[in-house]
Parts: sequence; structure tokens; C-alpha cells
Amino acid sequence: MENVIIIGTGCAGYTAAIYTARANLTPLLLSGSQPGGQLTTTTDVENFPGFPEGIMGPDLMMKMQAQAEKFGARIEYSQVEKVEKTPEGHFDLTMGDGKVIQSKTVIVATGASPRHLGLPNEKSLIGRGLTSCATCDGAFYRNVPVAVIGGGDSAAEEANFLTRFASTVYLIHRREELRASKIMADRVLANPKVKPIWNSTVSEYLTDEKGEMRAVTLKNLVTGEENELELKCVFVAIGHVPNTQFLNGSVTTDENGYIVQSEGTRTNIPGLFAAGDVADHVYRQAITAAGQGCAAALEAERYLAH
Ligand code: NAP
Repeated sequence: MENVIIIGTGCAGYTAAIYTARANLTPLLLSGSQPGGQLTTTTDVENFPGFPEGIMGPDLMMKMQAQAEKFGARIEYSQVEKVEKTPEGHFDLTMGDGKVIQSKTVIVATGASPRHLGLPNEKSLIGRGLTSCATCDGAFYRNVPVAVIGGGDSAAEEANFLTRFASTVYLIHRREELRASKIMADRVLANPKVKPIWNSTVSEYLTDEKGEMRAVTLKNLVTGEENELELKCVFVAIGHVPNTQFLNGSVTTDENGYIVQSEGTRTNIPGLFAAGDVADHVYRQAITAAGQGCAAALEAERYLAH
């Protein structure tokens, strides 16, 4: 029987691992489908304290992993399908391959995944001109027009990054001002390769004969007018959906699927804690996720002590 299982290896998961490992609880981390979490898909992180020159997202996550492992945390690369609290008071975690692992406490730090528009041919276009990761796919689109959808920090950051490769980066936003922080908004709007398209949304993805992205239909939300915009790739940056599906409704969530916390990182199930973007739709920063990971670890430690 494990003392602590941490589901997720983003900032929250690794921080929880560092704290529980240093408390001699030998935590087991289950990595899920995106080891390292969302920061592995970003470039420069300029606002994580301690790195005045900035640090690359993947480097930061490798350092967190090394720090957790140094104190005895173990990492297993598997996907959790189900979490159940047993009448005896421990948890049964069922993996994708059917294996069941038992633990006295669980910290859910599964983060959130990119949201898509919900257009009909979306799924078939992923990897064929539709993506949510400029860092992963930007370099494939050199000297061709691309678009970013969204108006938040992610959209601003992705659009700026893509100007290294693309001929033009259209920034398609449904309103006429960005939600992004002022510094990011100013930076992206000052970039001559970025062409904002305000009050607009993509109503259709159009493909070529090979089934790859050729253009989009743009709909102006003020005039209702529609027109076609030729491009090679669309980077969707319209927020995230929390990864709580595997909990099958057993843990209380809000209407958007975010886990509801009380008294810090506690959930409605004693012994099961939640940390980071899976529960936080307000701050959603690397440092706040790390802070919650720390809090969840301390809560788990106290729960075990009692
Ligand atoms: P976000 O702040 O929630 O922004 C999502 C954007 O997508 C908004 O502009 C929203 O439009 C738009 N949107 C949502 N649903 C849409 C739809 N169906 N169709 C069209 N547009 C839609 O998400 P985010 O940019 O991913 O940022 C998440 C958090 O991470 C934020 O707290 C952000 O500050 C942080 N972050 C920080 C950094 C950094 O500091 N380096 C980088 C990336 C992210 P409206 O504006 O009209 O709502």
C-alpha cells in the first residue's frame, strides 16, 4: 500500500512530490499522457521566481523532476482510469492496463488540457494544420501564413513565438481587445508580423485535397459577414478544460469541471486532495500550481499522521 499517490507531473504534482518525499512518504507519481504538464509545451518562462533571466518551460520541469527524484519520489508512466475510495478507507487506483494500485492518500494534480472550438472536422485536422502547441509545431510552418485563435496570454505568447517562422501570424479574437496581460498584449500588437483580426471567430476549417488545412471561414461577429482566409496552420489558444473525467463524478466539481476545494486543497472525499490547474480556474500560474502542490502535500502528511 502506498502512502501517497500523486496523479500528474506538472508544477503541482512535482512540488507535492518534493514535499512528501522530504517527509519520508516515498510518493509515487503517475505521469499521465503529458509528462511534465503544460510547461513542457511553452518556451521562456519569465515569471517563475528564482530565474531572473527566465527559464525554458521544459528545463524547469526537468529540474523539478530531478529535485523530486533526489528525495526518493518514484515516477510511473501510466494513465489512471479510475479512483475509488474503499470501505476500508484507502484508495484503489485502476490503471489503463487494468493494474490496481492501492494508496492511503491521493493528490490529484492532473491539470487542464487545451480547449478546441468544437467544429465538425477538428479531430481529423489535429496534426494536419490544427494544433494547440506553437512550441511543438511552429517550426513546421516556415514562411507561410498561420493563425492563432484567442485573446489571452497563451494566444499572445504563441503568436509572438510563431513570428520566428511564419510569414504572417493572424491573431483572431472574438472581441476587440485582448484579455492578455498588458506587457504581453503590447508586445504582440507591436510585432509587425502579427495581424489582429478583431470581433471574429472561425466558423469552418477548410482543407485541401490531402485533408490538410488550406483556409478558414472567418465570421465577423458584429456584421455577420463571412470570408475566407488562406493559411497553413491554426493554433488554438482559447483556454483549457480541467482533466477530471477519470474521477467519474465521484469528486465534487463546479459546472466547468474544476474540482471544488475547501479548507485549502481538501475535496469532498477525505484523503483525496486537489492541486493546481485541475482545481484553479482563477490564477492558473506555474507558481500558484506549485504552491497548491506544497499545500496538498502538507495536508496529506497531516491526514496520514491522524
Ligand atoms: P484565458 O486567459 O482563459 O484566455 C482564453 C481566450 O480565449 C480569451 O481571450 C477568450 O476570449 C478566448 N476564447 C475562449 N473560448 C473561446 C471560443 N469558444 N471561441 C473563441 N475564443 C474563445 O486562457 P489562456 O490564454 O490559456 O491563459 C490561461 C492562464 O494562464 C491565464 O491566467 C494566463 O495569465 C496564464 N498564462 C500566462 C502566461 C505567461 O505569463 N507567460 C502564458 C500563458 C498563459 P474572451 O477574452 O472574449 O473571454
